[in-house]
Amino acid sequence: MEQYVANTYARFPLMIERGEGVCVYDENGKKYLDFTSGIGVNSLGYGDKEWVQAVATQAGQLPHISNLYYTKPMLSVAEKLCKKSGMKKVFFANSGAEANEGAIKVARKYGNTKYEGKRNEILTLVNSFHGRTMTTLSATGQDSFHQDFHPFPTGFSYAKANDLEDVFAKVNENTVAIMLEIVQGEGGVIALENDFLKGIQSLCDEKDILLIVDEVQTGIGRTGKLFAYEHYGLHPDIVTAAKGLGGGLPIGAILMNERTEGVLCPGNHGSTFGGNPVACAGANVVLERMTPEFLQEVEAKGKYLRERLWKMPYVERVDGLGMMLGVQLKDLQGKDIVNACIPEGALFLTAKMKLRLLPPLTMSYEELEQGMDILEKVLTNWK
Ligand code: PLP
Repeated sequence: MEQYVANTYARFPLMIERGEGVCVYDENGKKYLDFTSGIGVNSLGYGDKEWVQAVATQAGQLPHISNLYYTKPMLSVAEKLCKKSGMKKVFFANSGAEANEGAIKVARKYGNTKYEGKRNEILTLVNSFHGRTMTTLSATGQDSFHQDFHPFPTGFSYAKANDLEDVFAKVNENTVAIMLEIVQGEGGVIALENDFLKGIQSLCDEKDILLIVDEVQTGIGRTGKLFAYEHYGLHPDIVTAAKGLGGGLPIGAILMNERTEGVLCPGNHGSTFGGNPVACAGANVVLERMTPEFLQEVEAKGKYLRERLWKMPYVERVDGLGMMLGVQLKDLQGKDIVNACIPEGALFLTAKMKLRLLPPLTMSYEELEQGMDILEKVLTNWK
């Protein structure tokens, strides 16, 4: 299987052939309950009728046209994102890293223009993850990502998560933006604290520093709100989204508020595929599903998962928000449990040493229960 594909992932030796509901099937027809949703992407699971219909119809009607023209699916996604969030304008990209790359450009241009080239540094958090392009690697606050590919773009500094003193110490007159994830996903599913986030918001307001919230993993309903920053009453200047937005197709978005909506001008930024009509047709269906009732269900299902997880052997901590959860296991690595769950018919993820759960938001209680039963059995029989 590995002959022609670049060796950049520690892939499982599994060939996944199709998905249905919240399950995927391998080439031998074995069924797996999917607690990964393609790393937080397949928010509506597999084969959602409305989503498939919208995507298929759009593929037949107009699969692509450049950004020199408008399309209805793109306008409709932009309108929904703005109306649901209160943000003012959207730039479309194709991935999380690209959305963050663009967000960094918006912030730099804002600072360079308003402060005559003197404000262009961005403070991010230790243990963050913002993507794999050169600049988003620089933005990522983990030394392990700052190896091998020198020279990296400069202009980033890093403060400790949940440590306001450290943020105050690292902010200076050149700081144009603070960029953070509300729950650090790849960093180990670590939720930022309310006081820390509120303190950052006040600091940003006081010093005209832009707040960039990377909602690539936390956004589009994953935590029980459309965006996780809503749990804390924040008012970010730039929000990035990707993963769950397309429900399975590549799309990224930069949302800008009244302070930042006018920063980018024609020629400043672009993307051939950004706002692709097929991806947007899928995103429209996903966004239509994000009703208050649906989001409440996500929160309630997250609570159910937490309660089940806390009762399992070896479980030391359960972190996260909504249906984005990380489980710390005593003397056990998440990856060993992930491997042990595969033959039992359930797929899970890891984040650092933890076991991570990112199930489709549509997973029913019965299916959640089946998955928890599998996990509990594996942990109970572990020796
Ligand atoms: N930002 C966050 C918070 C992420 O979790 C990820 C991916 O895991 C990214 C950015 C990068 O997204 P992509 O892989 O779509 O480029």
